[in-house]
Amino acid sequence: MMSKGQLIVISGPSGAGKGTVCKAILEKNNFWVSVSATTRSPRKDEIDGINYYFITKEEFLQKIEKDDFLEYAEVYGNFYGTPKSEVLKVLDSGRDVILEIDIQGALKVKTAYPNGLFIFILPPSMEELKNRITNRGSETPESLITRFTSAHKEISFVSKYDYAVVNDTVSIACLKIKSIIIAERCRVDRMNGDFLKEEIINE
Ligand code: 5GP
Repeated sequence: MMSKGQLIVISGPSGAGKGTVCKAILEKNNFWVSVSATTRSPRKDEIDGINYYFITKEEFLQKIEKDDFLEYAEVYGNFYGTPKSEVLKVLDSGRDVILEIDIQGALKVKTAYPNGLFIFILPPSMEELKNRITNRGSETPESLITRFTSAHKEISFVSKYDYAVVNDTVSIACLKIKSIIIAERCRVDRMNGDFLKEEIINE
């Protein structure tokens, strides 16, 4: 029997570099990163269907009605949601799925899928976090303040996660995340029971 894929949830405050780290991990590995739906407007280099499914608030509310989301949350005044059927289909096929979502969403997923792997990305310092959000140049002054103020509160949730990775250098942060995922796959309590039985019989 093919075992199910691992659900991997990555969160962290704005400016911690989740997006960059997830993109770098994806480039060299066979993970599947879920594309969320959002009511936020696209940034200048973002593509519909690649970065997000950019939809209206009405469309988002209809999807909530239809129970189309694995989880959803309102973040910085916009809605964000993980498409349920896509994620479950990929997990069923045995492939690992990465969700890059906010803390509220991660906590909802944790209640529904306690066997998920929960990783928190931390910035090297609050000063560096502020520089990264500012240098991105995509936020309005109000959005900058909201994101920076929220970051302090969000970081206090790190204790709800299984692992924390400081994103000082992207390549090292990626290596740490990959190591965590590999170690997780080797955990005895995550192994398929049938596989264990077979191994014992073969010995
Ligand atoms: P951004 O606007 O910078 O792309 O994302 C803002 C926040 O929303 C980030 O913390 C990001 O991880 C989170 N986010 C993106 N997609 C989802 C989602 O599907 N669900 C939840 N709960 N948060 C999301």
